[in-house]
Amino acid sequence: MVDEIGNAIKVMHDENIKFVRLQFVDINGIPKSISVPLGSDEDMEDLFNDGMLFDGSSVDGFVEIHESDLLLKPDLSTFSSLPWRPDESGVSRFICDIYTPEGKPFKGDPRSTLKSSLEKLKDKGYSYNIGPEPEFFIIDQDEDGNYIPHDDAGYFDVDPTDKGTNFRRKLVIDLEDLGFEVEGSHHEVAPGQNEIAFKFDKALKTADAVITFKQAIKAIVDNMGYKVTFMPKPFFGVNGSGMHCHQSLFKGDKNLFSDENNENGLSQEALYFMGGLLKHSPALSAVVAPTVNSYKRLVPGYEAPVYMAYGLKNRSALIRIPAARGKGTRIEYRSPDPSCNPYLAFAAMLEAGLDGLKHKIDPGEPTEFNIYNLSDEELGEKGINVLPASLWEAYHAFEEDDVIKKGLGQHISEKFLESKYAEWDEYRIQVFGYEQKKYIGL
Ligand code: GLN
Ligand code: MG
Ligand code: MG
Ligand code: MG
Repeated sequence: MVDEIGNAIKVMHDENIKFVRLQFVDINGIPKSISVPLGSDEDMEDLFNDGMLFDGSSVDGFVEIHESDLLLKPDLSTFSSLPWRPDESGVSRFICDIYTPEGKPFKGDPRSTLKSSLEKLKDKGYSYNIGPEPEFFIIDQDEDGNYIPHDDAGYFDVDPTDKGTNFRRKLVIDLEDLGFEVEGSHHEVAPGQNEIAFKFDKALKTADAVITFKQAIKAIVDNMGYKVTFMPKPFFGVNGSGMHCHQSLFKGDKNLFSDENNENGLSQEALYFMGGLLKHSPALSAVVAPTVNSYKRLVPGYEAPVYMAYGLKNRSALIRIPAARGKGTRIEYRSPDPSCNPYLAFAAMLEAGLDGLKHKIDPGEPTEFNIYNLSDEELGEKGINVLPASLWEAYHAFEEDDVIKKGLGQHISEKFLESKYAEWDEYRIQVFGYEQKKYIGL
């Protein structure tokens, strides 16, 4: 691991690096970077020690024009050389933390926000682990310029129907070069849809990894002449793309969600954490499913959650408890999709879980039936509520949830609400082909 400056400089020389990318994300999780040509060792030492100033007013959700300077500081442990760039005069990438010119962590930096939520676990010596399952479509364009899936295959299909095999082979090899431990890759349910799951890790590392993963996949598939989309619901009538998040709390080597003496093998901590996630799910939706399009995925019938309930095997519930027990005990939160900002999504989920622990929130009984089939009366009798059905509903739930707003901090919460309001307002006034077809005869 690259953990000190001298070591970082040596590795860059050894790996023929010519450019150093300093990278961060904006409030929507969109990666931004500045590329610096590799300079003398002294210049590089200065860069790593002092950081680099940039204009924060041009980045979504950051600062106003009259307070524009911010400082990027590379986190040495995030060093990667980018396998999709040339080997000769290669490119390395560091993920950065953002500071004010006075040297304080910048409150609008999503990565720092996740760090400060994680800080709350330090006293107890806990760590928060996340294993994400990002799904995505490989797409092509027809003669009219319409986006279409690049194959007709379905769940777990094999080649030649599954034309994703060669893409996934190349992707897995390159992801392993980047340090990913790939758990498995397969064709997903919808035509053109794929999944590559990678091993769980501590939340900060995983959030960095999600950003790298998306960038790598886009770059590699683009080099192969196709496009990739992490849009949550690119096509009507088939499954959308989720990013289920498997999660657990550990203390050292011990999984705190496991208790073999308890019913279901789950500890009281796991139940309370889940209680918190369920309680705050409406507000969490805005963060984990943050686009207008996210809510076209969260509809009945496509393996995506609609109801705020948990189940042990139940894929129609918002939270599923996979069968693994002991060290592998975890809860799978299923509403997140890959359009989310992983730093904010993980911070918000942790804040919700911690609130559950603090207030001993009971998650109720597990549901072991297909919730999609229940009538409104049955849902009411069982006390099962529905997740927000649109970004607008989620926006209001977020606005009303002080735990989540406080957890993400005032700066992020305000800028996030501003950004989501604008997104909804822009969408609200559009007129789509569907509407013309339905109403043009009126
Ligand atoms: N694509 C589904 C979703 O939107 C998940 C399918 C699966 O992984 N079982 O969440
Ligand atoms: Mg999976
Ligand atoms: Mg899947
Ligand atoms: Mg899953």
